[in-house]
Amino acid sequence: MPRTAIVGAGPCGLALLHAFEQARLDGIDVGEVVCFEKQSDWGGLWNYTWRTGLDAHGDPVHGSMYRYLWSNGPKECLEFADYTFDEHFGTPIPSFPPREVLYDYIVGRAKKSGVRESIRFDTAVRGVTFDAESATFAVTTESLENRCLSTDTFDHVVVASGHFSTPHMPEYPGFQSFPGRILHSHDFRDAAEFAGKDLLILGSSYSAEDIALQTFKYGAKSVTIAYRHAPMGFGWPEGITEVPALTHLDGRTAVFADGTSRDIDAVILCTGYQHHFPFIDPYLRLTTGNNLYPDGLYKGVVWAANPKLLYLGMQDQYYTFNMFDPQAFYARDVVLGRTALPDADQMAADIAAWRSKLDAVSGVMEQIDFQTDYVRDLLTLTDYASFDLDLVRQHFVTWEHDKDESITGYRNRSFSSPCTGTVGPAPHTPWWEEMDDSLSRFLKP
Ligand code: FAD
Ligand code: NAP
Ligand code: MG
Repeated sequence: MPRTAIVGAGPCGLALLHAFEQARLDGIDVGEVVCFEKQSDWGGLWNYTWRTGLDAHGDPVHGSMYRYLWSNGPKECLEFADYTFDEHFGTPIPSFPPREVLYDYIVGRAKKSGVRESIRFDTAVRGVTFDAESATFAVTTESLENRCLSTDTFDHVVVASGHFSTPHMPEYPGFQSFPGRILHSHDFRDAAEFAGKDLLILGSSYSAEDIALQTFKYGAKSVTIAYRHAPMGFGWPEGITEVPALTHLDGRTAVFADGTSRDIDAVILCTGYQHHFPFIDPYLRLTTGNNLYPDGLYKGVVWAANPKLLYLGMQDQYYTFNMFDPQAFYARDVVLGRTALPDADQMAADIAAWRSKLDAVSGVMEQIDFQTDYVRDLLTLTDYASFDLDLVRQHFVTWEHDKDESITGYRNRSFSSPCTGTVGPAPHTPWWEEMDDSLSRFLKP
C-alpha cells in the first residue's frame, strides 16, 4: 500500500487531501495519506493568529495575515470549481470578502470532503531524507504536545508548507539607531496601532499597497512608501505618498534617493518572503525567489530531480485556490501512477521552455496571461472540474483596471462566477468606509 506524506494543511495541503478523497470515492485505492500540520488547526495563513515571533511551542509563527484583511482580488478569481460560493453560502455574496469569510469557505469544502481525520495537528515535520536503495523517504516529525520525535517511511512526500511566512528583511543604514519601531509585514497585525503616526513603508507590491491603505484607513497621520524600482502609481488618497528608494535613516529622519526627507515614527518592511524549507535535506530543497515558474519543478509541481517529491503552491500567485486545485489533482495522479511522467530530459526541456517563456514576460497583464496559460496546461492534465478560465483571466484584467481607476474603490465592484455565472451583489457598505471585517457583518443583507 503506497504511503504519502503531506506537509501542511493550508489551502494546498487541503486541496490534495480533497483530491485523494475524490479518487477514493471513485473506488480507487489511494493507499495511506497522512498530512502533518504544525498548527493546532487547518487553513494555513487563513487561520488567523494574534501571535507574532514564536508560537506556543517556540516555533516561528506561520501566520502573516492581519486584522481587517479583505481579499485583494475578486473571489470569483479563486473559486473552487467543485465547491462554489453559491453552494457554501446558499446566497450570492459580494466579490471582495474579508479573511474570515474566505476561511469559512476553505474549511467548508474540507469539512464536506471529510479530510480532517487524515491530519495530524500540532505535529511539525522536522526532517525529510531520501533513501535511494529502498526508494523511500524518512519523514521525522515532532509531536508538539509531548515533544516526541518519530520517524516514518513514505513513498511520496508532498510539500505544501507555503512560502509567505519567513520574512525577507533587508537592513538600511541608520536602522540600528532608529528610535521607533521597525517591523516586517509578517509581524503586522493591527492597523489601529499606527493611528496618529507617520509611517514609512518599504516595498512596492501587494503587502506595501494593502498595508499602506489599511494603516491610513485606520488612522495613520501619513504614509510614505519608498519604492526600489518603480512606484505602484495608484491614485492614492491625500496622505499617502510614493517616493524613490530609501538611502538611510538619520535618527527619525528618512532620507530618499531624490534627496528629499521625512520624519517618521515607524518603518514597516513590506519586502517579501523567502522560500524556506529547513526540514528538507538540502539536496531535495527547492531554492527559488518568488516568481511564476520556480526552476526544477515539472508542471510547477514535480521535483524533477526526484519525482517522488512534489511541491504545491510554490509559484507567485495571481491565481490561488483554482491553481492549487489542479496542481493537487495532478500531484495525486502522479503519486497514484495514474499519470505517467516523461523521462528526465523531457521534464528538463519542458521546465526550460516555460522558464524561457517567463523570461519574455513583462508587465502585469503578461504575467496574468502567463499564469492563465500555466493553469490551462494543468487543467488538460487532470480531471478537475472545468470552469471558465477565460472569464477568470478577463476578471483579472478588469480588476487591474479597476485598481488604476480607484485604489480605495475597486473592492466595491462586482464580478460574475466562472462556475455558476452568479454575479456578486454590491457590498452594503463601501470598503473604504467599512471598519468591521467580521463574517456576520459582511453577510448581513
Ligand atoms: P499556507 O497557507 O502558508 O499553509 C501552509 C501550512 O503548512 C500552514 O498551515 C503551516 O502551519 C504548515 N507548515 C509549514 N511548515 C510546516 C512543517 N514543517 N510541519 C508541519 N506543517 C507545516 N491569496 C488569495 O487568494 N487571496 C488573498 O486575499 C490573499 N491574501 C494574502 C494575504 C497575505 C498577507 C499573504 C501572506 C498571502 C495572501 N494570499 C492570498 C496568498 C496565500 O499564499 C494563499 O491564499 C494560500 O494561503 C497559500 O496556501 P498554502 O497551503 O500554499 O500555504
Ligand atoms: P512580494 O510580492 O514578493 O513583494 C516584495 C516587495 O519587496 C517587492 O516590491 C520588492 O521590490 C520589495 N523589496 C524586496 N527587497 C527590497 C529591499 N531590499 N528594499 C526595498 N524593497 C524591497 O511580497 P508581498 O508584497 O509581501 O506579497 C506576498 C503575498 O501576499 C502575495 O501573494 C500577495 O497577494 C499577498 N497579500 C495579499 C493581501 C490581501 O489580499 N489583502 C495583502 C498583502 C499581501 P521590487 O519590486 O523592487 O523587487
Ligand atoms: Mg480536464
